[in-house]
Amino acid sequence: MMNFFEYFVNRYLPSIGIFSDPLMGAGGRYSPIPIDKMRLPIMTRRDVLSLRPRISDEIQFEAGLRLAVVVPFRDREHHLIELIPALKKMLLEQGIDFKIVVVEQVDGKPFNRGKLKNIGAHYAFKDSDYFCFHDVDMLPVNANYRYPSSPLRLIKKFETTWRTADELSDTNFGGVVMLNKENYLSANGYSNEFWGWGKEDDDFFNRLILKGLVPFEDNEGLYRELPNPEDQVRRETAAIRRNKKTQRRLLRNSNLLSGDGFSNIDYKVVDETGMTDYLKVKVEI
Ligand code: UDP
Ligand code: MN
Repeated sequence: MMNFFEYFVNRYLPSIGIFSDPLMGAGGRYSPIPIDKMRLPIMTRRDVLSLRPRISDEIQFEAGLRLAVVVPFRDREHHLIELIPALKKMLLEQGIDFKIVVVEQVDGKPFNRGKLKNIGAHYAFKDSDYFCFHDVDMLPVNANYRYPSSPLRLIKKFETTWRTADELSDTNFGGVVMLNKENYLSANGYSNEFWGWGKEDDDFFNRLILKGLVPFEDNEGLYRELPNPEDQVRRETAAIRRNKKTQRRLLRNSNLLSGDGFSNIDYKVVDETGMTDYLKVKVEI
């Protein structure tokens, strides 16, 4: 917790680079996502570095626990019908006890991916031990869906027909990420304040490291990306600017995080269809 002076320093002085991450250099299939290239407000940086463990810890996987795969969704029916069979096949092969929860936003507001993810987690909460937040347009080719001891990004490389990049960059914690219930609660889930495309996943990464958690990546994780619909390739720049601002504001006021997230979601379910291992929930948010 910051005192008044520290709050001021954090709020008004420029951010500085982390430069050297104590967890850098661990090799192998799973490694901590490096944070050395991040820039953080001064006091936030101090807090993150004091929490970041000194010795490189390992990630462990456990079998037999219950997974809820949460898919934030709107207007992508053609993606969904490709994802579901591919995902089910992979989960069955790995012997995972799973439930897929598609959370569809049906109101006219801008899409709010973070809030839809929180709603999915809330919906599946009692019957699950860990959550996977899964974009609808990423099909697993090589992925491990077992229960992780630390947050994990499952995508490293992806096959794509429409982007120049084919790998997720350093601290991008989007696409397909998985974490156990305890880690999710510790971060208080996603912020509900990001409307329109972008930045809620970067904010989520910040929440995790601010709680001393170490997000990992699967260096062998491979997906096949389906192209975005034509009208969703170019982004509303106003929304991006606003979301960048929101992200900076939240980062500089890190002690306020607890009031925005899983603890304060409100939503209305307008329809629910599905079976035991597949549910589609339509919500107004
Ligand atoms: N999404 C959706 N409908 C939308 C926008 C986003 O269903 O209108 C969901 C979907 O799960 C998608 C994810 O949010 O995979 C990420 O959005 P998008 O694909 O537009 O982002 P990008 O991959 O271009 O970063
Ligand atoms: Mn996409």
